[in-house]
Amino acid sequence: MTGGRVLVTGGAGFIGSHLVDALLASGREVVVYDDLSMGTQDRVSADAVFVKGDVRDGDRLRAALAGANSVCHLAARVSIRSSVDHFVEDADINVLGTLSVLRACADASVSRLVFASSMGVYADSPDPFPVSETHTAEPISPYGIGKLAAEKYCLLLAPTLGIKPIALRFFNTFGTRQTFTPYVGVITIFIRRLLAGEAPTIFGDGKQCRDFVHVSDIVQACLLALDSDAGGVALNIGTGIPTSVNQIAELLRGRIAPDIHPTHAPKAGGELQNCIADISQATKLLGYRPRETLESRIDEVIADIRDQQVTD
Ligand code: NAD
Repeated sequence: MTGGRVLVTGGAGFIGSHLVDALLASGREVVVYDDLSMGTQDRVSADAVFVKGDVRDGDRLRAALAGANSVCHLAARVSIRSSVDHFVEDADINVLGTLSVLRACADASVSRLVFASSMGVYADSPDPFPVSETHTAEPISPYGIGKLAAEKYCLLLAPTLGIKPIALRFFNTFGTRQTFTPYVGVITIFIRRLLAGEAPTIFGDGKQCRDFVHVSDIVQACLLALDSDAGGVALNIGTGIPTSVNQIAELLRGRIAPDIHPTHAPKAGGELQNCIADISQATKLLGYRPRETLESRIDEVIADIRDQQVTD
C-alpha cells in the first residue's frame, strides 16, 4: 500500500527522521509528533506536518491523529544505562506513553500500529550467536523491561481495539543524525571522542558483541511492516552479523586517529554481553533483507559527525 496518512511519534529523532523521509518519498502524508526532548525540528522534512507534543498528552495526540490510518510509535527515552538510575522516567514515557498512544489510536480509528521495540528485551547470551524471537525474554535493564511490557501491551490490547499491531525489535542502529548523548550509540560516542583527539572508553573487555544495523535497513523494515498483513508478532530487525566493541574501536581508530588507543572501564550496569539478531522470521514474514554493512556506511557517519562538530 502506498498513500495514506501516517503519524510518526519520535519523528524528530534519529531513526524517526529517516523514516519520515522514506514515508514521504513513498507518497504518504506524514505527521510528526515529538516533544523535542531529544529530537530537533531541523531534522524534520518541511513536507511533513509537525506537531510538538508529549505522547502522554492523549488529547493533543488524538487531535494530531485526525485522518491518520497508521502509526509508527518510536518516541521513547532511549538509554539502557540511564534507565538504571531513571527507572521511573523510563517507565513513565516508554510504558505509560505507549498505553497513551494505544488509547489515542483506538479513539482515532487507526488500523495499523508499528511499535519500535528493542533487543533490550532479551536475556543475556554468553556467546555471540544470533538469537531468535523465542530466545528467553528476561531483560537485564529497566529499559528492556519497559520495552517488553510495552510490546506485550500493544500485541495484547491493540487487536481488541480494532488495531493490527506489530513490534519490531531493533538492534544497535547506526547512521547519520544519531542523537548524541554520552550514553547512547557506541559508534557515535567513539567517533566524537576520536575526532576530538580523545581515547574512547570501552566498558569491560570489549569482547561483547553487537549487531550493528544501518538506519536505512531499520526504515526498510518499518515500511515493509506498514505494508504487510503480518500482525500480532514481535520481529528481530538486525543483520545477523556480530561485531565486538573492540572491532568497532579498531575500525574507527584506523579511519580517524590510528595513534589513539582506547581505554577500559568496568562493565556498565544493564548492558548485555552479546546480542545478535536471527532475522529469519522478519525475512519470512516481511521480506526484510538488510542491504547495508558497517563497512559500506561508516564513512558517511564519520563525515556527518565531523560536519556537526565544525558547526557546534
Ligand atoms: P531518539 O532519541 O533519536 O528519538 C526518540 C525521539 O522521541 C526523540 O526525537 C525525542 O524527542 C522523542 N520523545 C522522547 N520522549 C517523548 C515524549 N514523551 N513524547 C513525544 N516525543 C518524545 O532515539 P532513536 O534512536 O531514534 O530511537 C527511536 C526508537 O527506536 C525508540 O523507541 C528506541 O527505543 C528504539 N530503538 C532504538 C535503537 C537504536 O540503536 N537507536 C535500538 C533499539 C530500539
